[in-house]
Amino acid sequence: MVQSSVLGYPRIGENREWKKALEAFWAGKIEEAELQETLKQIRLTHLRKQQAIGIDLIPVNDFSYYDQILDTAAMFGIVPKRFDYAGGPVPLSVYYGMARGTAEATACEMTKWFNTNYHYIVPELGDAAPVLTENKALAAYREAKEELGIEGKPVIVGPLTFLKLSKGYQAEEAQAWLNKLVPLYAQLLQELGAEGVQWVQVDEPILVTKLSKGELEQLQGVYATLAAAAPNVNLIVQTYFEAVDQYEALTSLPVKGIGLDFVHGLAGNLAAIRKYGFPQDKVLGAGVIDGRGIWKADLAGKLDLLNELAAIVPADRLIVQSSCSLLHVPVSTRQETKLEPVLLHALAFADEKLAEVELLARGLSSGTSAIAEDLTASKLAIEALEQSEARSRLDIQAAAAQIAAVPAERNQPFAARHAAQEAHWHLPFLPTTTIGSFPQTAEVRKARQAWRKGEWNEEQYAAFIHEQIDYWMKLQEEIGLDVLVHGEFERTDMVEFFGEKLAGFAFTSNGWVQSYGSRCVKPPVIYGDVAFVEPMTVKETQYAQSKTNRPVKGMLTGPITILNWSFVREDLTREQIAYQLAYALRQEVEALEQAGIGMIQVDEPAVREGLPLKAEEHAGYLAWAVKAFRAATCTVADTTQIHTHMCYCEFHDMIDSIEAMDADVISIETSRSHGELIESFEHHTYPLGIGLGVYDIHSPRVPSIDEMTAMIERALRVLDPKLFWINPDCGLKTRGIAETAASLRNMVAATKAARAKH
Ligand code: GLN
Ligand code: ZN
Repeated sequence: MVQSSVLGYPRIGENREWKKALEAFWAGKIEEAELQETLKQIRLTHLRKQQAIGIDLIPVNDFSYYDQILDTAAMFGIVPKRFDYAGGPVPLSVYYGMARGTAEATACEMTKWFNTNYHYIVPELGDAAPVLTENKALAAYREAKEELGIEGKPVIVGPLTFLKLSKGYQAEEAQAWLNKLVPLYAQLLQELGAEGVQWVQVDEPILVTKLSKGELEQLQGVYATLAAAAPNVNLIVQTYFEAVDQYEALTSLPVKGIGLDFVHGLAGNLAAIRKYGFPQDKVLGAGVIDGRGIWKADLAGKLDLLNELAAIVPADRLIVQSSCSLLHVPVSTRQETKLEPVLLHALAFADEKLAEVELLARGLSSGTSAIAEDLTASKLAIEALEQSEARSRLDIQAAAAQIAAVPAERNQPFAARHAAQEAHWHLPFLPTTTIGSFPQTAEVRKARQAWRKGEWNEEQYAAFIHEQIDYWMKLQEEIGLDVLVHGEFERTDMVEFFGEKLAGFAFTSNGWVQSYGSRCVKPPVIYGDVAFVEPMTVKETQYAQSKTNRPVKGMLTGPITILNWSFVREDLTREQIAYQLAYALRQEVEALEQAGIGMIQVDEPAVREGLPLKAEEHAGYLAWAVKAFRAATCTVADTTQIHTHMCYCEFHDMIDSIEAMDADVISIETSRSHGELIESFEHHTYPLGIGLGVYDIHSPRVPSIDEMTAMIERALRVLDPKLFWINPDCGLKTRGIAETAASLRNMVAATKAARAKH
């Protein structure tokens, strides 16, 4: 019999109960005992769902109080010295202190989990002396067994992945750290074995990245040790998000099972298994149901794939499973009552994916006739969406194809544009500007609520937005900024705002996914051809421009950021969707230009987030990402100044691509990536306009003139002063009014000093 499994289930709960419980606990509204009980009930609910659907190998210990990497660090007592921790099981106060910071100690760093939008807490090894402080996997296994009679499959983060994602050690100390960690893993597995645990899923997503020779040896050493230490436990070394780098080495490990991603690593993993086969003594976890996308699977196609695999790995050694943890998709489509039926029927969130996994396992065991109805249903739903009007915009498809076919070039190269712009705009030396948003005060949020609920009509809301703009236009002039912005008061979110105004997008009611800690996001769904409907930002920008003689910069979100922060259709490539977005945004850019707005900023903070995991695919992605940006912005006059903005990522190794975007001016966050970004300009003369953020906008603290002067001086050592702009790191929407005004006044004062000096 073929078995079914998933690699993990979302923690947040169908109505984000998990988030609410965590936040209530942090706010002191509930005690620890109540938190524990609430979370236990959430856990059991999730297990019951999987049991009811008939999943054979149900994951346990995939649940977390915050993040699974933080759990692993805590389980090994790896707590930085700045926290008040004296050994033993890590108390919740310390655990949450590491995640969120305390009054005395700053939080641990947080970073993106591979190429997903999930963020994990980075363990700090430093001088830690790891011990097994508690066996969380065992506790989870016992709970599932005692409460529900489930023979669970504990999930743990494998030693290689844990080590590679940690910081606070030198590369040459890796083996020494493994020597400390692996015995703890062995102990953990032995305890599981003594309890009668049969299967343990050891997550090693690091194995899809390029491994050095040394790491390959470590891989073999680690699993030889673990397999010998716990011979009665079946280990599945689980990979996901891409094809594995070293298929032969991986499949020759002395473990019982290997899990491969046949969705996001389909081509590579399939080629490897066809070429090298699969060992007779192992079980294959075949990840065929997409754990990251939200679409129904083409079940017939998946069965074909599984049948091919079953010819290599006999059915009794096959596990049909999700490609990765279902953590990355929303919980269920059950609450989606407002979506168009043709879209709704084509969606599968976590619960629907459980059903798909079970169906496929059944279909493979008992033959297609056993699931014939479901095969037809999935086929019809997918076809209906494919043939829907939303996906039949021939004009859009042709325009996107045209963008793909021709180069996206401004009329003139930068030097000529720069001269034309200087003559046109007469900006002062070292011009000052901001990134777009101004404080979204409680008043602004309340007004939007009132309007959304229908308590305010369009006119009332527009009048309120105008008042906000009036206030900030006056204030910006008084502060002495050179290029002004309208403040983005009408926007909640930089992607949602545009998605709501473009065709081809849908918004779920409850499609939340965990981003970090209790923070969830609800990505828009790009399900149809993306089309411009009517101007989206012209009215507010034009209104702001009518209030001042200084230039007002229009403000848009770029094609790649919209793409990377949405769930997208899969019948087109991401590149094709990017070109559709570029075409739509180009029309907005042109509408702004026509309305007399001659400076237009197209934000692209998320370009780096779309970077493929495999280094050899970086160049291809960056080429079309850059082209989509250029396509959105290249049709304007020479005097029209295109700006862009990027933040909170490591940009120092992609300066070439940033330059290739050919924006007349880029503003880029500098404080977090500090030295690195500025250093990279030492080796690379940046030939376009650029503003390196002169202050961090994440704290209410007002930066001093001296601090900003120091930032400006540092930047001017490596960048051409004639092309340099002065701006904060990012938008100011999370800040208060008073501190924003004070900070900007200091920024202008620092600029005046720099102007006098240079
Ligand atoms: N223009 C946006 C703002 O100022 C940019 C936001 C961002 O970079 N994430 O809010
Ligand atoms: Zn930003």
